[in-house]
Amino acid sequence: MKKKCPKCGKVKERSLFYMRSPKTPWVNSSCKSCHSKLVVSWKEKNKDRVLITTKKYRDRCRQEVIEFFGSKCMRCGFDDTRALQIDHIAGGGRKDRASYSSIQEFYKKVIEEKANKYQLLCANCNQIKRLQNMEHRTKKQ
Ligand SMILES: [Zn+2]
Ligand SMILES: [Zn+2]
Repeated sequence: MKKKCPKCGKVKERSLFYMRSPKTPWVNSSCKSCHSKLVVSWKEKNKDRVLITTKKYRDRCRQEVIEFFGSKCMRCGFDDTRALQIDHIAGGGRKDRASYSSIQEFYKKVIEEKANKYQLLCANCNQIKRLQNMEHRTKKQ
């Protein structure tokens, strides 16, 4: 089955086109090579904007979670937000976090679950807790 690409005007095999996707309906009209050029140039043009928007959004989500936990380390009271981390009380945070599609999704969940499962620790306390609980061992498996 062949399809004509409206971008380059070439008739190509259907497999050289992306399948229709509800998230990106514009993908389906042009062929893969035109599409990848399009994506590259769009990203190139909007590089800064994309970076800033994602970063701002992420920072805002992070800020929200940190404030939710009182903006300081619950062990030592350290309050420089740059070194504060969300810690999974029972350990296994890495695996837990990986099950969310994005960090924002994770933050949302943290707030929903309230402080039952998570706590705010500074990088030092987090590391100490990890060593004390031997959480680092599970990483390798
Ligand atoms: Zn094309
Ligand atoms: Zn601390």
